[in-house]
Amino acid sequence: MVIGAGNAGMDVALGAYAMGAKKVTAVDVQRPAAFKKEIDHVKALGGDVIWPFFTEKIDERGVHGKDGSLIEADMVIISIGERPDLSYVPREWLTDRGMMDVDGCWQSTKAPGVFAIGDTIIPGLLTHAIGQGAEAAGHIDTFLTGGELVPKKKLDMIPQGCLSKELFRPQNRGRFCVTDAKTETDRCISCGTCRDCSMCLEACPEGAIRRVEKSGGGFEYISDDHACIGCGICSGICPCGIWQMELVV
Ligand SMILES: Cc1cc2nc3c(=O)[nH]c(=O)nc-3n(C[C@H](O)[C@H](O)[C@H](O)COP(=O)(O)OP(=O)(O)OC[C@H]3O[C@@H](n4cnc5c(N)ncnc54)[C@H](O)[C@@H]3O)c2cc1C
Ligand code: SF4
Ligand code: SF4
Repeated sequence: MVIGAGNAGMDVALGAYAMGAKKVTAVDVQRPAAFKKEIDHVKALGGDVIWPFFTEKIDERGVHGKDGSLIEADMVIISIGERPDLSYVPREWLTDRGMMDVDGCWQSTKAPGVFAIGDTIIPGLLTHAIGQGAEAAGHIDTFLTGGELVPKKKLDMIPQGCLSKELFRPQNRGRFCVTDAKTETDRCISCGTCRDCSMCLEACPEGAIRRVEKSGGGFEYISDDHACIGCGICSGICPCGIWQMELVV
């Protein structure tokens, strides 16, 4: 049984099925926050998603609801999400919802020199936290060197059709085991930047793309306008949607 039917709860339910669970029931105090396709996936495997259900206690028989009901279970996993403990932050720095109140440069609106990103702003995605962290680092550098903080222009999202999911290594196929969990932390999390896979470099029929090492350990892939014949192979092969074809004549 899983207490909490958000996306993480549905992950837990699917993991339980992958590890041999015979029947998984997920409960929630409110309409489950998980995406419909996640819930449908669990239901298709025979799982139940029950709400509203308010847990009174857990004992060896299962989970007891506040309404006196009992859902029998031999294993209970609590997956009710996490949010940051900001109790050490002065109340006036927080929004009405208790999250850090920041401007477009990730700087606190109440405390200049204090920057906040990620789940302290709003519980979101890993990729949001990484992107905001990279931007905030730049703003902090500007702040410390006495420059003017200017919000970064919001980048256009890469169209989903330009992402080739087939080229990402599938995770957790079949039974889940401990080694999978360890390698999870090493894998590409697809934060929307170039993975340095060099597929474009190798695939370009005109040798128009080159990889340039930058100072500080960075790198850049550059396409030579004069050599490029506009075949679109780089754009098609890139798993991250980095190359966008543009009509220039
Ligand atoms: C169960 C679960 C599943 C998720 N699944 C996904 C997913 O599949 N894909 C996805 O994109 N996102 C997922 N997320 C969301 C994602 O993990 C978060 O949005 C992301 O980790 C937020 O990054 P962060 O740096 O803001 O916070 P965190 O990654 O939480 O890092 C904060 C760090 O600060 C430390 N810390 C806390 N208080 C203090 C303090 N006072 N002093 C010093 N250190 C402190 C914490 O120990 C922690 O290491 C999931 C979250 C949960 C809880
Ligand atoms: S579009 Fe240009 S850069 Fe891309 S693969 Fe074709 S020739 Fe090379
Ligand atoms: S631009 Fe795309 S194909 Fe080229 S190296 Fe980066 S991720 Fe790979």
